[in-house]
Amino acid sequence: MAVSSWRLLDTPPMSAAENMALDQAMLRARAEGKAPDTLRFMQVRPRAVLVGFHQSVEQEVREDFCRRNGIEINRRITGGGALFFDESQIGWEIFASRDWPGIPRRAEALYRKMCEGAVLGLRRLGVLARFRPKNDIEVGRRKISGTGGTFEGDAFLFQGTLLVDFDAGTMLRALRIPLEKLKDKEVRAVKRRVTWLSEELGSAPPAPVIKAALAEGFSRSLGADIRPGPLNAHERRLFRAARSRFCSDDWIYSARRPPESRQVLRSSLKTKGGLIRVSLVTDPPARRINYALVTGDFFAFPKDTIMNLEARLKDLPLDIRSIRRAVLAYFREERPEIPFTGPEDFIAVLTEAARKTELTRYGIPMEDVNNVYFVAEPPNRQKGARYLLLPYCAKPLDCKWRKRDGCAGCGRCAIGDMYALAREKGMTPISINSYHHLERVLGEIRRKKEGQKGRKGFVGSCCEAFYIKHREDFERMGVPGVLVDIDSRTCYDLYKDAEAHQGRFDRMTRLKAGLFRTVADRFGARGRPRGKRK
Ligand code: SF4
Repeated sequence: MAVSSWRLLDTPPMSAAENMALDQAMLRARAEGKAPDTLRFMQVRPRAVLVGFHQSVEQEVREDFCRRNGIEINRRITGGGALFFDESQIGWEIFASRDWPGIPRRAEALYRKMCEGAVLGLRRLGVLARFRPKNDIEVGRRKISGTGGTFEGDAFLFQGTLLVDFDAGTMLRALRIPLEKLKDKEVRAVKRRVTWLSEELGSAPPAPVIKAALAEGFSRSLGADIRPGPLNAHERRLFRAARSRFCSDDWIYSARRPPESRQVLRSSLKTKGGLIRVSLVTDPPARRINYALVTGDFFAFPKDTIMNLEARLKDLPLDIRSIRRAVLAYFREERPEIPFTGPEDFIAVLTEAARKTELTRYGIPMEDVNNVYFVAEPPNRQKGARYLLLPYCAKPLDCKWRKRDGCAGCGRCAIGDMYALAREKGMTPISINSYHHLERVLGEIRRKKEGQKGRKGFVGSCCEAFYIKHREDFERMGVPGVLVDIDSRTCYDLYKDAEAHQGRFDRMTRLKAGLFRTVADRFGARGRPRGKRK
């Protein structure tokens, strides 16, 4: 392969805003053909949380904790999830033309190619790293570097962070770890899922040694002669012009903040490419979507592609067919690259949000529709649930029934009322004591349902995080059900999900008793939902 010349730019530690502004300036200059292909190393000072381009700060970051601890917050120009970037970490970034020989056009192949250099560099340091699809570098199944990228014109930026030391405690407090990821990355096991250079090598090599090894790795993987060089005058101009924008709330918070309103319909879906969250700001009487916000930790190219999707959803009739048509037209005409995620994923999550208005027909107030989740079947097909599944965590810690299925109806908690409700409606109440118990119970319900041909669904209660995490499991088990959110902080908020999974959560949660009663009444055993039907 012919050896081409690249620039090596090792920028001194800078604030998160300056680093993000420089990313934007360098990508723009490369897209304009006014800067060379470049490998940049970056470090931040002070430490920072960087959310992905499509993410909402409020959903991903514990802002109070960050403010109290001098941790800056900013937004990357690349997609992906939020990350905590401490002063020891080293970021590596490739700015190049998409036409550069040997650069795959497809994002999936590009990830692999770009990570190759970092893998080779780590191996030079004595760390047996390898690429793990879709975009991580790991050592013995523990992640050491996360990566992501974006395009502008014919130029792309691909970047990764290398953990040198790791302060798991601060990271966990600074980030609202995306609850939906917990299935793969249990919070309590973060340290077992992640590794860092000083852990692998006994001590962290000096930063210049790490950077030299990475530069050598990229030089080999790209077939490039990478030599130190400064920013040029055009890049410096773009950088100066971009700085104030990247310090502003307009950039950091962007327009990604869904309003707290009773007319917002929300839904989330975990896809292979990442989590998609949608908020449809609606005008229910007019049956219109005023506007839509689509956020999440997926990657989407080009950078403004999700804004274009949102533009197609603006002022659309609030119905499934219009949403489907708009999404399909968007994918067909704009051909966005959203790795591992396709139009059907977006249609599914948008449709689910739109269908939440149907719940008002069943007597569920508009302000509560986002607290109700449907399993396996949409609302208009859910009928005659026979089982009332109640979480053990809503029982007091000293109740002798907390770890057992049953309730003496002593009146000290809402579970007693729910047992009474079940009796009243001819439903079977079951206290769920652990995740495994839930699987067993749903398995038994499914077998009975198959044996007796009847509908044997359930009404239950769990927090949203549990629902999103186990949504696929629920659907795989195939028992139709309606779930009502919980009214208090849950094991997920308290990072006690692993204990909760085994039935050892040591706090008490509160059922949304009124809403639960309404849902049980509408979808419970006595035959059919009793809402007004069109
Ligand atoms: S109502 Fe039932 S679950 Fe609640 S404290 Fe009394 S016995 Fe325990």
